[in-house]
Amino acid sequence: MTSAETSPRRAPGGFPVVGIIGGGQLARMCQPPAVNLAITLCDLAETPDSAAALVIPSAPVGDYTDVEVVRRFAADCDVVTFDHEHVPADVLAALEADGVVLHPSPSSLVYAQDKLAMRRRLGAIGTPCPRWAAVQDQKELSAFGDEVGWPVVVKTPKGGYDGKGVRVVSSPEEVADWFALVERDRDSGGKLADGLLAEEKVPFSRELALVIARSPSGQASAWPVVETVQTDGICTQVIAPAPDLDPELAAEVTETGLQVAGELGVTGVMAVELFEVPTDGSGSRVVVNELAMRPHNSGHWTIDGAVTSQFEQHLRAVLDLPLGDTRARAPWTVMGNVLGGEHESLYPAYRHLMARDPGLKVHLYGKGVRPGRKIGHVNVSGADLAQLRERAQHAADYLQGVVTE
Ligand code: ADP
Repeated sequence: MTSAETSPRRAPGGFPVVGIIGGGQLARMCQPPAVNLAITLCDLAETPDSAAALVIPSAPVGDYTDVEVVRRFAADCDVVTFDHEHVPADVLAALEADGVVLHPSPSSLVYAQDKLAMRRRLGAIGTPCPRWAAVQDQKELSAFGDEVGWPVVVKTPKGGYDGKGVRVVSSPEEVADWFALVERDRDSGGKLADGLLAEEKVPFSRELALVIARSPSGQASAWPVVETVQTDGICTQVIAPAPDLDPELAAEVTETGLQVAGELGVTGVMAVELFEVPTDGSGSRVVVNELAMRPHNSGHWTIDGAVTSQFEQHLRAVLDLPLGDTRARAPWTVMGNVLGGEHESLYPAYRHLMARDPGLKVHLYGKGVRPGRKIGHVNVSGADLAQLRERAQHAADYLQGVVTE
């Protein structure tokens, strides 16, 4: 797999090589800060034209589930990190046994790979979570639903993304197909061998996220808490900071995130997705939905809106360098996700968008356009939040072909 053309070339003067497994858009967005810091990135790509392989010269193509492939890849790197959470446990264990420096470590990554493990661990450290249960069959789900009230949220603990492993159900029959997979996996030790995760349906008023970074020596930093606006289970906008968030609650969220990162020994960037839930009176509380241990969609605003972006911070953290300033550069930054839509070619849209809104920052990932696929994002920063939201929405809609002027 690794050939002379794809072996990473190190900048002279002792600069490191950071390997990223699974080069999608996150690995791609690490490249600009890596260039600035003379850090060489090496990407274990799934295809030669993956989002990261297009911009990272050293991008051997290989299967991240194949121990030998990943071993050979890691041998060229000083540190190895991840673009996604799907590298199997046996591959991670083999790398660890070889002495490869992995950030985050397999023992912390498991809490982002497995929602049941995450719920158990967060419960043990006292982090506020929805009421939940591991359910093996329809009978157990029925008992849980009767206890917390229907409808309930049922999740496949491993491998879901963008809501694909999440169903809101009013009866156990609605996930009979998933329980059939649980049955199938039980003997083979497959993905659903431990059952499904059932959660109370949280009556939240909005979704929030906290992105933090933690280095191996224990330094940690957090960006302001943001609001993530969801449409049909997909995040469409991120508002930084979260408007009208009680400063005490914001501080509590930040403290919770830093505590979780410390307890779990997370290294690199971690995102905590939360629900804000109104309480009696005019207050609110938060519960944790899930964790991601990598740069996260809710942190894309930091590229243009914060002194240090989550991608630069991730590199600093995994290399155990001092972390950068996380303060916002403007009162508000709005990030709008660009989903695949009408246009196959997006470049022609630049002319109109750039003329219409010179302050707009466009980030496209060089991915093929498929309906609903996250193919890029836009950032706008300034003082008038309503106007920023409109500008971000317009740009995303225009790139998607939803509006034509
Ligand atoms: P994924 O890992 O696919 O992103 P999530 O666990 O984040 O899945 O769930 C996707 C969406 O489903 C969340 O953003 C939220 O809107 C909704 N959701 C998830 N869990 C709950 C819950 N316990 N109560 C209410 N809504 C939920």
